Amino acid sequence: MRRFVIGGNWKMNRGTAAEASEMLYPFLDAVKDIQNVDIMIAPPFTAIATALVLVRDHQVQVGAQNMWYEEHGAFTGELSPDFLVSLGVKWVILGHSERRHTVAAETDEIVNRKVKSALEVGLSPIVCIGETAEQRKAGQTEEILRTQVAGSLADLTPAEMQRTVIAYEPVWAIGTGVNATPDQAEDAHRFIRGLLYDTYGALVSESVRIQYGGSLKPENAQEIFEQSDVDGGLVGGASLEAESFAKICQIASEIQK
Ligand code: PEP
Repeated sequence: MRRFVIGGNWKMNRGTAAEASEMLYPFLDAVKDIQNVDIMIAPPFTAIATALVLVRDHQVQVGAQNMWYEEHGAFTGELSPDFLVSLGVKWVILGHSERRHTVAAETDEIVNRKVKSALEVGLSPIVCIGETAEQRKAGQTEEILRTQVAGSLADLTPAEMQRTVIAYEPVWAIGTGVNATPDQAEDAHRFIRGLLYDTYGALVSESVRIQYGGSLKPENAQEIFEQSDVDGGLVGGASLEAESFAKICQIASEIQK
C-alpha cells in the first residue's frame, strides 16, 4: 500500500512567527502519535524558519510553496532550491494553479524545470495539475491532465518519478467549498496513474503517490481518501486551523492502517 501524504498549503496566510506558532503548537500535539502518514506543512517563506524550529522533535516536515529553478543569479524576489535545502526544508509545492493561472503564469515547461532542480538537490516536489471548470464542462479534463503530466513531468527518470508526488487539484474545487465527488476524484487519479503506466510501467505507476486537493475538509476527507487511487491530500483552507488539519491527518492515518 502507498503511504499517505498530507500537505498543508497555508498560501499567503499565517506568515508571521506568531501566526505560525499559534497553529503549530496545538497541531503538533494533536498529531504526535501519527507515524504511518507523511505530514507536510508549507507556510509562507517568512514563517518557514519558525516552523522548522517547532517541528524539530516531530515527524511533521516543512515545505515551501514555490521556488525558482536556477541555483543563483539575477532573479529578484526568487529563492533557489539550495536556499530551501540549506534551511532544512524537505518539500516544495510546484505548479499550483494559483501560480499557473495568475500573474506568475507558470507554464508546464517552467514547472518541469523546477521539478528537475528540486529533485537534483534532494527536495520532494508536489506537482499540482488539474482542469478549470470551463475545461471540465467542455469535456477536456483528460486532455488537460495528459498535457500537464507530459509537460510538467517530462524526462524524469523512473527513480525521480517515484520521488515525486502529484496533486490532482481541479481548479474549480480550490478554495470554493465545492469538492470533487469521490468518483470524480478517483476517475482523475486512475487516469493519471494510467498515464504513468504508459510511460514508466507497473512498478513506478503503482508506487507514485497522487494526492487530491480542492476544498478538502474533515467532513469529506474520509470518502475521498477511501478511493483506491487517492493517496492523501493537499489542503488549503482547512490546514490553517490545528483542529481541522489534525482531523484530516487522523482520518488518513485510520485508513492507512
Ligand atoms: C490548495 O490551495 O491547494 C487547496 C486545495 O486549497 P483549498 O483546500 O482551500 O481548496
